[in-house]
Amino acid sequence: MGKGIRWVGTILAILLVGGIVLVPKILREGRVQATQKACLAAQRVLAGAVEIYLLDHASATVTPDLLASGGQMLVEAKALPAPIDFEVSGLREIPYPKDRLPRCEIRIVGEWNTSTGFPLECTLHGSPDRPATFEQLRDRLHLNFWGEYSPP
Ligand SMILES: [Zn+2]
Repeated sequence: MGKGIRWVGTILAILLVGGIVLVPKILREGRVQATQKACLAAQRVLAGAVEIYLLDHASATVTPDLLASGGQMLVEAKALPAPIDFEVSGLREIPYPKDRLPRCEIRIVGEWNTSTGFPLECTLHGSPDRPATFEQLRDRLHLNFWGEYSPP
């Protein structure tokens, strides 16, 4: 009887310590994945804005300038309601140097296609069709197994 209670206590203690150790890691990983979802959503919005821009500017050519400064040219042409913030600000909530927050670099990576429009891609997060894996994100952000910033 007494032995059984001791075992239960030991197992509960192990689970508690494991939980205390793992919860921050799980929260940080969730934060990293949320920033990726936000980036991929922003890419869809930008792709739509580029198409609207081209409908209104038939003779325009697609240049990287269109996406510069969060899509400022698209905002001025009223194809995008507001510039998109390319700073990966969701990482503020994990132990990441605030002066080194990465920025999304979203580029047009191919020709216009009737089904997908202009293919866009972020050098950090990948594209909606080919998102970066979690391991790739961790490498690119220099996060260790625990989700802490650990530059090479
Ligand atoms: Zn991105």
